Order: sequence, then structure tokens, then C-alpha cells
Amino acid sequence: MYTCEIISVGTELLLGDILNTNEQFLSKELASMGIAVLHRSSVGDNRERLAEEIRLALKRSDIVITSGGLGPTPDDLTKEVCCEVMECPLAENKEQTEKIKRYFEKKGMDMPESNLKQALLPVGGIVFENNNGTAPGGAIEKNGKCLIFLPGPPRELIPMFRGCAKPLLKKYSSGTIVSHNIRTMEIGESALAELARDHMDLPNPTVAPYAKDGEALLRVTAGAESEERAEELCKPVIEDILKRLGKYVYGVDYDSIQQRVVELLHKHNKKLAIAESCTAGYTAKRLTEIPGSSEVFDCGIVSYSNDIKMNLLGVSEATLKQYGAVSSQTACEMAEGVRRTGGADLGISITGVAGPGSDSENKPAGLVYIAISDGKKTVWEKLETGRENDREYNRYVSASRALNLVRKYLEKII
Ligand code: AMP
Ligand code: MG
Repeated sequence: MYTCEIISVGTELLLGDILNTNEQFLSKELASMGIAVLHRSSVGDNRERLAEEIRLALKRSDIVITSGGLGPTPDDLTKEVCCEVMECPLAENKEQTEKIKRYFEKKGMDMPESNLKQALLPVGGIVFENNNGTAPGGAIEKNGKCLIFLPGPPRELIPMFRGCAKPLLKKYSSGTIVSHNIRTMEIGESALAELARDHMDLPNPTVAPYAKDGEALLRVTAGAESEERAEELCKPVIEDILKRLGKYVYGVDYDSIQQRVVELLHKHNKKLAIAESCTAGYTAKRLTEIPGSSEVFDCGIVSYSNDIKMNLLGVSEATLKQYGAVSSQTACEMAEGVRRTGGADLGISITGVAGPGSDSENKPAGLVYIAISDGKKTVWEKLETGRENDREYNRYVSASRALNLVRKYLEKII
């Protein structure tokens, strides 16, 4: 298998001013081509440090890809440094000069002289046209090594990688890597790993657990000479894991719980109404991120005050007095009330303490009650996130769990 490194160039990356999305994009693309990315590094706009980084990367790996530093300003040095390291002269590429001139003409702008620097390209190298900006990219292949330089802006880098670099890299590609994500809720990462322990010791496919925003997922990854073969390797492992994890799994390769819930609501032809207290519309917002949700979403009511809980949702005063706003009893009456109000098939509710700190009734942050009602029965759950000082986490996880309650109802788990 050929090996590759990614070097991201730009002082703005080191200062934390921008998120390095290019390395994530490139890593994913290269993995899918069966090229092993072994190192990623970021370096500022500095000639010596960049040269040192490229030299080191070329010593270790077959392919080195840089992103950024192809602009017209003096701090953009990547191409010059690549040529210096590869001992390859730069010369004007007339075609590129014309192209850059035309680019500015089309925009009705005068071309700054400095832009001509972008038409200087390595002699004997390969030019990657830039159809979304002025800086061409390129590749230098020498002494069994391949050095590729790409522009920094993602809207230029992505099409250039797909259109120019990928075809060139085909000859280094050894098969493909396929990954599937088994997404779960209500089970911790270590319990998940325990259940899949024996699979995790095998080399191909590999099985790895990850925890993310109150969820846990298992990633199953197989490498093979073809996509079909990689899928064949993944299939029995995924099937076995699904059997073991059962009700905890909300889906394989779903982007989010809301995606699964919208799909299930469509499948069962049900409309959902949502009453939210501590999440204030977060659940409704997440549900409606999914295209097609309008056909299965009836209404969302943000009911913070007790008055609204009583007047709009029909929660009884006695319940609020006796058990408080954050209680299973209130959650159940909110779910029943919002279902009735909307005339929906299902109503769900969330009431809790987002934090930081306890509420006026002295209930701790992270204590949340959620409920679902179909008009005949109402089921509630209590969450205790244990995160006293993480308002965002408490709100996010409450919304996730309310959505998961809908999933469990429609899958007849509850
Ligand atoms: P460049 O002139 O080629 O160095 O790139 C300039 C712009 O591209 C930066 O200001 C960023 O907006 C963007 N950019 C550069 N590197 C990256 C990266 N690694 N990830 C995402 N955006 C980037
Ligand atoms: Mg730059």
C-alpha cells in the first residue's frame, strides 16, 4: 500500500483562525482510494519550516499533498518551496498567464502584477487547472515520489482534487476502504466495546468505538481490492454486532437520530407534535433539518412558564403544585396536551433543568423528564446527565433522547 502525508500551509491555521477542513476532506478521499495517510501536519507561511516539513514528509512517504499557500501575495510560498525541495525549476506557463488575465477581464477588474506569479509552474510537472480561482495547482513526480500542491480555499481544492489529483493518484491506489457507522444511544462507549470485544481484536474489518455528543458509535472498516469485497467483509460483522446490540442501535450510516425518526414517521404515516420546556424548540429545529419533515411534523410548542403549560397544553395546576414543572407527571401531561392541541398522532415532551445550577425547586441541572403519548398510553423516561455545568450538552442530549423515544415507540421497543 502506498503511503501519503498531508501538509496544510497557512499561519491562519496555526493561529486557530480557521478550521482545517481540507485535511479532513483529503484524508477521507485518500482512505476511500486505499492510500494510507500516515501523517498530517500544519505549518505557517514560513519558507524554512515549510521546506523542512516537505523534506521530512517525502522521506517517510510516497505521496505528499500540500494545501494552501498558492496565492499571489509574498507570504504564499508553497509552490516555490515544493520546486526547491524537488530540485525542479519554475518557468512561466503562457497558457496560465492568459487564463489569469481572462479571469480578471471577465470580472471587469485590473489584474494586479503579483498575480502573474501564479502562472509560474514547475518545469516537467503536471498542471492542475483551477476553474474556481486564479491559482493553478500541480504535481511533481520524481525519484519515485509524488508531490502534489493544491490551493487552500476548499471551493477550489475540492473540485481540483476530484478532477485532477484523483485521476493522477489512481496508479497509487490499492483497492479501497469502506466504512460503516453503527449508531447507538443509551449505551456507553465502554459497554459497547465490551459487547463487540472479539470483533475489535481482528485486523480486517477493524471495529472501533467512538463517543459523540451523548451517543456511542461503532465504526466498521474493511480494506480490500474492490468495494464489493470490502462490503462483503463488513456485512457479517455488522450483522453480528446488530444482533448483539439490539434495541440500542438506531441505525447504520445515518447522519443523525432525527434522520431516522423522520424516516420512521413517514413509514408509519404518523404526525408528531412536540412540547418543549428546557430545550425551547431544539428538538423541533433538529427534526425540521430533515427534508420531508413537514409531512410528519405537526407543531412545536415552547412552554416555559407554568401558565402556558396549563393554558395551552392543559397541564393541571394540581400536578404542577404537587410534583413541580420538572417531573414525570408534568412531562406526561405536556405530551398528552400537545398531541391533543395539534391533533397529531403522537405527542412528545421535554421538561428539565438545563443548568448550570439547580432550578427554583432545587432540582439538579441535568435532570430531565421526557414523555411520549399516542392518546391511549403515555410513556415517560427520566434522564440524569450528571453534567451540572454543561447547558448545551444537557439541551442537546435531552432533544436526542426525546427523538429516540419516538424511534423506540415506532419500532415497538416501548
Ligand atoms: P491560500 O491562499 O491558498 O493559502 O488559501 C487561502 C484561504 O483558503 C484561507 O484564508 C482559508 O480561507 C482557506 N484555507 C486554507 N487552508 C485551509 C484548510 N486547510 N482548510 C480549510 N480552509 C483553508
Ligand atoms: Mg495562505
